[in-house]
Amino acid sequence: MKIICIGRNYAAHAAELGNEIQKDPVIFMKPDSAIFRQRDAFYIPDWTTDVHYELEVVIRINRLGKNIEPKFASKYYSDFTVGIDFTARDVQAELKNKGLPWEKAKGFDQSAVLGEFLSTSDYDLTNLNFQLKKNGELVQDGNTSLMLHPIAQIIEHTSKYFTLKIGDIIFTGTPEGVGPVSGGDVLEGYIEGKKVLHVKVK
Ligand code: ZN
Repeated sequence: MKIICIGRNYAAHAAELGNEIQKDPVIFMKPDSAIFRQRDAFYIPDWTTDVHYELEVVIRINRLGKNIEPKFASKYYSDFTVGIDFTARDVQAELKNKGLPWEKAKGFDQSAVLGEFLSTSDYDLTNLNFQLKKNGELVQDGNTSLMLHPIAQIIEHTSKYFTLKIGDIIFTGTPEGVGPVSGGDVLEGYIEGKKVLHVKVK
């Protein structure tokens, strides 16, 4: 199973990090060992002092596919959730400055948190509200209609380079409002007001 992530998919988030918007989706990956499996809490690794949350809509691939046309993209996933793409922003900044790959900052253990999956048949993924609360306070408030590259285009573009397999996960990019976490924080993710994700930070 692989975890594909899309970067800079919301204009306001690209702007808050000072990044240019690209014509094609920005793609990076996390290894399957990044899946958050701790039941009790997310532990901030000792090699970073600036871990950020990024709440994103996540889809799960349910069919094998390659070179998928946008009009067929919705046939390749039937459930989705929100997830947190934990990012060691200090390490990422250092790597970006040197022009080096991001993996250490993005693909580390426990960095891919997944919420409870819901059926796509019950929601409109082209106009979906999703939110993150940190310690009860709203910090990210996104809507998928603001994606620069909609899900169909993400699937088309990624499947040109990488065969999509059953169980693969795609993080579709974060809206604005990313920020740091510290020990004791509680993060909660919502889809259309329904709480599907809860993680404690230690
Ligand atoms: Zn992200």
